[in-house]
Amino acid sequence: MLGNVKDKVSLITGAASGLGKGIATKFAQNGSHVVVADLDLTIAKATADELSKQYGVSTLAVQMDVSSEEQVQAGIDATIAKFGRVDVLVSNAGIQIIAPIVEFEFAKWKKLLDIHLNGTFLTTKACMQKMIEKKTGGRVIVMGSIHSIEASVDKSAYVAAKHALLGFVRSIAKEGAPHNISSNLIAPGFVRTPLVEKQIPEQAKSLGISEDEVVKHIMLGDTVDGQFTTVDDIANVALFLAGFETNALTGQTMLVSHGIGM
Ligand code: NAD
Repeated sequence: MLGNVKDKVSLITGAASGLGKGIATKFAQNGSHVVVADLDLTIAKATADELSKQYGVSTLAVQMDVSSEEQVQAGIDATIAKFGRVDVLVSNAGIQIIAPIVEFEFAKWKKLLDIHLNGTFLTTKACMQKMIEKKTGGRVIVMGSIHSIEASVDKSAYVAAKHALLGFVRSIAKEGAPHNISSNLIAPGFVRTPLVEKQIPEQAKSLGISEDEVVKHIMLGDTVDGQFTTVDDIANVALFLAGFETNALTGQTMLVSHGIGM
């Protein structure tokens, strides 16, 4: 069966909002136990409780800043203590910071790379260690972007981080193969989550155009049909990849973008 995650243990970072929450919900609907990892424990707990109540799966909420090695380790240890294994990692937590290169504050550059790139490294390392130790194999799914394969103005740190993640996913594929661990990058186009809603007025101001123009030309201009990708589109692709039965797709990027970057 495609997309079979029943009884798997899936840890999803940034799972209290947007795409991460959509993926956590989709996985729970399909019988996966879910670890909701996010910055704010109260919000993560509310998400985890809602999922177990609605779908009857076991859930765990962990407070995890993915850029903190200690917090990542503590979150994976809590996962193993509760479930004894981790089968799927969805490294999804992320932020956006927009500024031209010549005005980009170094501290903000480092913060963005710390969350997207270092956070993915830290969570992948900790999960792969357990997948190998427990001989369970596993699936590592990393949230890239169309900015993993192309650039936009004012998003240099994000573009650099997302390109780096494409390479990292290929490295996971190579090193994971002997242990039955596969990896994939999901590269969404624009999805109307809080991360994107915040960018619309910011980009309008920075580019001196209206918010409607940002949506029509900057976000959807390169799609084939002028449509946003949805949270459900991304969650369905994550489910398909997490539940894919063989490693035939390992290392591959899936563009989910209404044609952007094809
Ligand atoms: P969102 O803002 O709705 O959710 C991001 C979540 O990540 C939040 O719950 C936030 O608390 C969490 N988070 C932020 N920093 C964290 C940290 N240091 N440690 C742990 N959690 C942290 O955003 P979203 O749109 O759902 O974005 C999720 C991922 O999808 C990001 O990696 C983003 O780059 C990527 N993405 C989004 C789009 C889009 O159009 N929305 C497109 C391509 C890629």
